[in-house]
Formats: sequence, structure tokens, C-alpha cells
Amino acid sequence: MLIYDLDLLTLANLLSEWNEPSYRAKQIWQGLYQHFWNSPEQITNLPKSLREKLAEHINFAPFKVKIFLDSSDGYTRKTLFELPDKNLIEAVLMRYGDPADNPQITASPTGRGAKNRRTLCISTQAGCAMGCVFCATGQMGFKRHLSSGEIVAQVMYYARMLKEENQSVTNIVLMGMGEPFHNYDNTMAAIDRLNDPEGYNFGARRFTISTVGLVPMIRRFADEKRQVNLAISLHAADDESRVSMLPINKKYKIDEVLESCRYYVNQTGRRITFEWALIHGVNDTPEVAKQLAARLKGLLCHVNAIPLNPTAGYHGKATGRGRAAAFKAALEQAGIPCTIRMRRGIDIQAGCGQLAGSVSLVG
Ligand code: SAH
Ligand code: SF4
Repeated sequence: MLIYDLDLLTLANLLSEWNEPSYRAKQIWQGLYQHFWNSPEQITNLPKSLREKLAEHINFAPFKVKIFLDSSDGYTRKTLFELPDKNLIEAVLMRYGDPADNPQITASPTGRGAKNRRTLCISTQAGCAMGCVFCATGQMGFKRHLSSGEIVAQVMYYARMLKEENQSVTNIVLMGMGEPFHNYDNTMAAIDRLNDPEGYNFGARRFTISTVGLVPMIRRFADEKRQVNLAISLHAADDESRVSMLPINKKYKIDEVLESCRYYVNQTGRRITFEWALIHGVNDTPEVAKQLAARLKGLLCHVNAIPLNPTAGYHGKATGRGRAAAFKAALEQAGIPCTIRMRRGIDIQAGCGQLAGSVSLVG
């Protein structure tokens, strides 16, 4: 049993079976989620006998750190974790802001004065079953779902690391390996656990979930009226083009996806984000931008475009600056706000779609 898989009530029930007083559960909870301790011995406000019992019956070590890599600018760290069944997953920390606030950083890709943020990108599955052609995780295939605790533990690992620098995670994006809506229940359980006011207390609005567009789950998510941000990986404005990149589009066509997005906006009043990997000559012309704008008309949304990151299994090329700017201008002229996002951590294969759980990339 992995400690991070338990919610507070389950932990309390377990302790009452052990005839422990009820406040012990909260002491453990605070140790885990406020001090980020990761072994029972550290929870010194518990009696020794209970610490020993916990160590004997509950697993406090969700994974081993296989390796971590820092990008050359010092702003991005990718950590590769090995799960007990030897599957590998990755989580990436991206720092934004002033080097003065981040002493270990020498250069600033965002320029001085940029808002100081530390965004953590975590995985929800080992591998992915969706097979998007330009994504390294898709190229490796599906291994397995992560448990809620395995998702939570990635955050605790980085929270612990940042605490040593007197810093904390400011945003969490579920954009690492895997499709979060294919592992819906565990993903939501992880968010709820991280959100728990008695524990880590991470605000719902500081999470962003990204999905390839699993329509029934978008509707379910809308009905739950969560405050969590939602991003949809669109990448194409017509079905023929989208299906050639995202096989799931055979099942859920663009119209259906956008219909569920309208439903989401109606249900929640929240703006939705569309993600767009800009691929030279494929989906980056002003004509495509106009076609996209026409389809998104009237929807409370925003387009996040990012030049394609290279992966071993796909030969498309990233759009250059000039074409990206023209794409953005065409969208905005048609009334759809668009941001061209910076690529991050490409030198350590930590960019969007580059996580393959592979150590062979190293060195
Ligand atoms: N499975 C989810 C979340 C993980 S992927 C999803 O697909 O939305 C996170 C984002 O990276 C998605 O928008 C995905 O389309 C994008 N992506 C995948 N491969 C990429 C690549 N090679 N370059 C840029 N973005 C990529
Ligand atoms: Fe899976 Fe997302 Fe990669 Fe597609 S882009 S293969 S859904 S992780």
C-alpha cells in the first residue's frame, strides 16, 4: 500500500483499526503534505512504535530517482523516476522569472521582471495509448495508468526539493506523459488530494489539465464544474489533417470536440485553451489560422501555439518565428487571442511531447 494513494479518511480508518487516536492521521498528513517528509522516521511527533508499524505496513517510496537533468540555461529540470515495476515516468520543473530570485540560474530566457513562477509538468500514465504521431510518449505506446499516489508523489518530490531553496511550486500542469482523461478517476483523485486544505492545499485554479479530446470525459469534467483549467490539443482545423496527426480523431471528430468545449464553457463560465504545435507547412499558414478562427467563433477561448519540438519518430519541422507571428496575427485579426509559447528544455528532451521515459537520450 502506497501512502500517497490514501486520502485522509482512509488513513484515519486504517489508524483506528490499529487502535490509534484519531489525531494521528492528521499528524501524518501534515508530515507528508506540509513538511514533505517521505519516511515515517521523520514524523517524530509520532511514537516510535507507530513509526515502526507504518514502516512495516505502508510503502513511503513510490519510485526511485533514476536521473535528473538541468537545461543549459538552468531554468528547466527533468527528473526520470523508476516505478517499482521498472516503468519509467518523467516530471519537469520550469522556472520563469528573474535570475536574481533563482540564484542557481545564470541566464534568463524570459527577461528581467518576468513574473516569478515555477510550473511543474507531471505524468498521469507510463506511456500513452493515443499514438499522436509527433509525440515521443505516443511513439512509445501505452505501459500503464499511474495510481493517484504516483501522480501526487511527483509533486511532493519537487515540493521537497524547492523547499530547500525556500521556494514552492506555483502551477501544476498535467501535460507530462500520458492522457489524463484516459486515467480520469486517478487523475481527479490526485488533484483532490493535492487540493486538500488540510494537506498540500494547492488551489484548483493553479492546475491545468490537457487532453487530446476525449469527448465523454470533457463533458463529465464540465458537469463536475471544477475550477481546474482545461486545455485541448487541437493542432488542426480540418478532420483529414487532424486524423493524420491524432488517431483519436477517427473516433471524436473536431465538431464533436468543439461541441463538448462549448458545453464546458457554458457549464463553467471558464475560458478554454487550445494547444497547437506549429509544424512547418502542415498547420501554420494564415489560411489554416482563418479556418481555425471560423470554427472557434463565439467560443470563450485562447490558442496556445508552440513550435513543434523534435522527436525521433516524426520528421515534421518546427515553424520559424516569422511564420509563427503571421499565424498569430491571422488568428487575432479574426478575433481569436493567441500566444506563441517559448520552447523549453529542448536540450534535455524536456519539451512538450518529448518525454519518452528513456535514459538512452542522456549523454
Ligand atoms: N495527453 C495530453 C497531455 C500531454 S501532451 C494531450 O495530448 O493533451 C502535452 C501537449 O504537448 C499536448 O498539447 C500535445 O499535443 C503536445 N505535444 C505533443 N508532442 C509535441 C511535440 N513534439 N511538440 C510540441 N508539442 C507537442
Ligand atoms: Fe498521448 Fe498527449 Fe502524446 Fe497524444 S500528445 S500521444 S495524447 S501524451
